[in-house]
Amino acid sequence: MSGTLIEADTAIADIDRPSLKEQLWQKMQADLAKFVPDVVERNRLMCCACGRFLPPEHFDVDHMISQRAIKRDPIEVRENPATPANVRAGTILLCTKPLHYRGARFYSNGCNSWKGKNFDGPMTQIFTGRVGQHRNKHGQNALIIGGLALAYLAMVAKFGYVVTLMQSGLVLREQFFNPSRFRNGLGTKFKAIFFGQPHTDPDDPIWANPFRFEFDEQSCLVTVRNFVIYLPLSRDPRVPIARHLKLVPRRHAFRPNFDIWFT
Ligand SMILES: [Zn+2]
Repeated sequence: MSGTLIEADTAIADIDRPSLKEQLWQKMQADLAKFVPDVVERNRLMCCACGRFLPPEHFDVDHMISQRAIKRDPIEVRENPATPANVRAGTILLCTKPLHYRGARFYSNGCNSWKGKNFDGPMTQIFTGRVGQHRNKHGQNALIIGGLALAYLAMVAKFGYVVTLMQSGLVLREQFFNPSRFRNGLGTKFKAIFFGQPHTDPDDPIWANPFRFEFDEQSCLVTVRNFVIYLPLSRDPRVPIARHLKLVPRRHAFRPNFDIWFT
C-alpha cells in the first residue's frame, strides 16, 4: 500500500516539474530582462537568431547538436543516465514562426526549422566522421557557416543575450541567414573550421560537456565535440555590463543592438 502511495507522489512530482521548454524560457527570459525589463510583463522572448520578440507558443526547444548525430553516439554513452540526449546535444529555444523578408514569406517554420534544414546536415557529417573527401566550395562553406551558426548558439546558451546584442552578434545573426555565402567583411580567421575524428571513448568528458570556449582578442575559439572554430566577438561576454553609471570604463560600456530584418 505504501509502495503505491510513493509511486503516486512521484508521478505528481513529475507532472509539476516544469518542462524543458519552460525551464529554458524562464532562464532565457530572466537573462534578457537585464536588457529589456518589460519582456517579463509582456511574456515575450527574443529569438537569438532572427531577433524577433515573440510569445511562448512561437518557440520550441532546439537540440544544438542534431538528434540525428546524437542517436549515433556510443551505446554506453546513450545508456548512461548522466548523459541523456538533451545534455549531449545542448538545448536552446529558437522561434518556430514563419519568417518574412520584405513582405515575402521565405521560410515557413521559423529559425528552429531553418537551422535543421541548413545546418544540421553538414554538422552531423562532422560529428559522425562522414565528411566527403572531395567537397566543392559550396560544401566547404556549408560546413564552416554551419560551424559558425552552431558555435554562436552555444555561446548564447552559455553566456546569454549579451552575445546576441553585441555588434558581433548582429554579424553572426546575419550569417545565420546566409548558409552558403560569407557575409562581407567577415575576417579570414573566421572562415576556417578544424575537425577531427568523432569521439569514441564512453568516458570522454565531451559527452557531458560538448562545448568549450577559449577567449582571445576580439574572438572566441569554440570547441564543439570534434570541431573547433573561431567566432568574432566585439567584447568579452564575461565582463560585467554597467547599467546604472553614466560614465563607465570603456570595457564596461555596452549598447545593445536590436536590429532585425524580419517581421
Ligand atoms: Zn527566429
